Amino acid sequence: MFTWKNAWKEIEDAQVKTAVVTIGSTEQHGTNLPLSTDTLIAESLAVMIAEELDAYLTPPIPIGQSGMWLEYPGSLSLSAETLKAVIADLVESLVKTGFTTILFVSIHGANEVVYRGFPETLQEKYPGVRIFTAGYPYWVRKNWEEVWSKALKRAELPEMVHADEVETSLIMSIHPELVGPNPTDGPLPNDRYPKGKTMRQTYPSGSMGYPSRATKEKGDRLWKELRLLVMEDVKKQLRQAQHSPQP
Ligand SMILES: [Zn+2]
Repeated sequence: MFTWKNAWKEIEDAQVKTAVVTIGSTEQHGTNLPLSTDTLIAESLAVMIAEELDAYLTPPIPIGQSGMWLEYPGSLSLSAETLKAVIADLVESLVKTGFTTILFVSIHGANEVVYRGFPETLQEKYPGVRIFTAGYPYWVRKNWEEVWSKALKRAELPEMVHADEVETSLIMSIHPELVGPNPTDGPLPNDRYPKGKTMRQTYPSGSMGYPSRATKEKGDRLWKELRLLVMEDVKKQLRQAQHSPQP
């Protein structure tokens, strides 16, 4: 794996043609998880993928679409247009410097530009480059069954919501030093966007669900399954791209 800590000549000499780009978020995750939760989870997957493919792991884009959480201090959001512009410039840099496969990794469901239409637009602009997305947030059903749903079932855990048992367990596993002592449970969402009430009125602690039920052991269990299934899916997507005709 290569990162921004390498020299350019090392990347060129190794003929690295695959880049892995983490697209995260900086947003409230309840009373005991860091604002960087989604970025840290996505980056952990991105590191695994980049190691496996001997790819260039770019620095992460640590801010995504988080407009719904702006009642909670520390949360930061980019508009869809800004995030698209940042991703487009980054892809152009990678294409100009010779990369032929670009893989976005995001687990933040509200990063819609990463999942809906925009990668396809970039793919059309650069027909000789393969552009994919991995990570698969829970509400993007395209890959839900093959990846998150299967991993959660195998690990015997409930569906992941937000700053809940599952997300807290994942962070306990990879960054226990960042998990605070006071989890505060919140209501489960019937509807992700409550009508007539603000998000903070509906989710005072910022959690949807039960972070108090999280354990490191549950996180370890889920990571084991998730890493296997995400890598399997990335390899499948790469194989499919190789077999589809390149212009
Ligand atoms: Zn999250």
